Amino acid sequence: MYERDTIAAIATPLGEGAVAVIRMSGVDAEKIARAIFLRKGKTVDRLTSHRLYHGAIHDPRTERMVDEVLLTIMRAPHSYTGEDVVEVQCHGGAFLTRQLLGLILAQGARQAEAGEFTKRAFLNGKLDLAQAEAVLDLIRARTAKGAEIALSQARGSLSNYVDALRQELLDIMVQVEAAIDFPDEDIELLQKPKLIDKIRFLADKLSAIAETYNWGRLFREGARVCICGRPNVGKSSLLNALLGENRVIVTPVPGTTRDVIEESVNLDGLPLVLWDTAGIREASDEVEKLGVELSRQHLEKADAAMLVVDGSVHASEEDKGLLGGLVEKRKIIVINKSDLPRVLSLDEFGKSAESFNCVAVSAKTGTGIEQLKNRLRELLLEYQTESNVVVSNVRHHSSLVRSAAGLRSAADTLALGLAPELAAVNLHEARDGLEEIIGLVDNDTILERIFSEFCIGK
Ligand code: GDP
Repeated sequence: MYERDTIAAIATPLGEGAVAVIRMSGVDAEKIARAIFLRKGKTVDRLTSHRLYHGAIHDPRTERMVDEVLLTIMRAPHSYTGEDVVEVQCHGGAFLTRQLLGLILAQGARQAEAGEFTKRAFLNGKLDLAQAEAVLDLIRARTAKGAEIALSQARGSLSNYVDALRQELLDIMVQVEAAIDFPDEDIELLQKPKLIDKIRFLADKLSAIAETYNWGRLFREGARVCICGRPNVGKSSLLNALLGENRVIVTPVPGTTRDVIEESVNLDGLPLVLWDTAGIREASDEVEKLGVELSRQHLEKADAAMLVVDGSVHASEEDKGLLGGLVEKRKIIVINKSDLPRVLSLDEFGKSAESFNCVAVSAKTGTGIEQLKNRLRELLLEYQTESNVVVSNVRHHSSLVRSAAGLRSAADTLALGLAPELAAVNLHEARDGLEEIIGLVDNDTILERIFSEFCIGK
């Protein structure tokens, strides 16, 4: 699986820029660098590690100069991949960078696959799997808080914690194995309740960290919020007001927004994905029916909903019906058009209306928009707990949940006085879950899937 050839890629986005970086990693990186790099017009016999050299790249076949560059070599094992790595900083033109890469490939390097540098870092033990995944999250982070969580994970906060939990689990496993090997020891009987407590305590710790996913995920993926409401209440206008710019066409003709429009907003560090839907209601034509179905699907996936109603008129049956459809959702009722005289009363929605989370706004004038943003943040982050270690990746979350379940089954098995062999099976399951997070379990499918998500050059 680990090919030891030398890989190369353009590490910066293709396009015009002041500088671009081309990266090589592998045993031939230095040889290739020396073949194409000239310093004061001469080839360099030996490049010192971690030093920046100014010089030029030339094509040894034609002896033509290609670009003036800065070059550095980071020798194994003190590099990102753990192999010899050479980075060339050249002028940032799309043609030029491709030409330079072509030159490197002609010298025997191979074009790197997506994520291959990070994969090599993982395979060389420079990063564990959770850290490697966090590198990708860091690249993709959309807000400061998202980047902060990713950086802390990339530096090993989650991995170290998971590893500490794994050590506790291994201790427990030793005791259970002892009970299997020496079934007649009295000591085992005395310690059994203590052991069960210890297993349950560890399961609780795992569940607690798994729970941080409820909000950690929001920072990684963005919180998904559906804007619902009957036509003409001002959904598109509200979306524009939240975005602070005119992105969606607003028209006074009902039912114009037939597709689901997706926009991203940074809500004081929380990335928000807003879906403006066609509204869920009886549709008359086919196109509208499709739109309504699409809205329903989005609503199901959403973390919260904003039901927009028009405060300048009484609640219609459609408004009430829409609210009825949101019973299971975390929601805010947004009473729009508050610049007009208020006609709507919350009582119209029934007795429980007082307990609703309501905000009056005017999408037209901007009144109440800040308050709405604050309420949204509170609603979405209600799970927030103070924790230095945060889970934000669904893969880590499901492994933790699986581990905790394994531990609980083991505790139950022992409490029921069943054979410790059965508990040992559950404990192995729990250990596999933890080891999957940091990548101790050999699973090529997991690795392929994770690294293929990276960009080329990372
Ligand atoms: P949608 O169908 O729910 O997306 O509604 P639109 O955003 O297209 O708005 C429908 C109509 O209501 C347009 O004529 C808007 O100008 C108007 N409108 C939207 N928000 C407000 C508001 O806060 N105050 C007033 N007075 N009019 C609004």
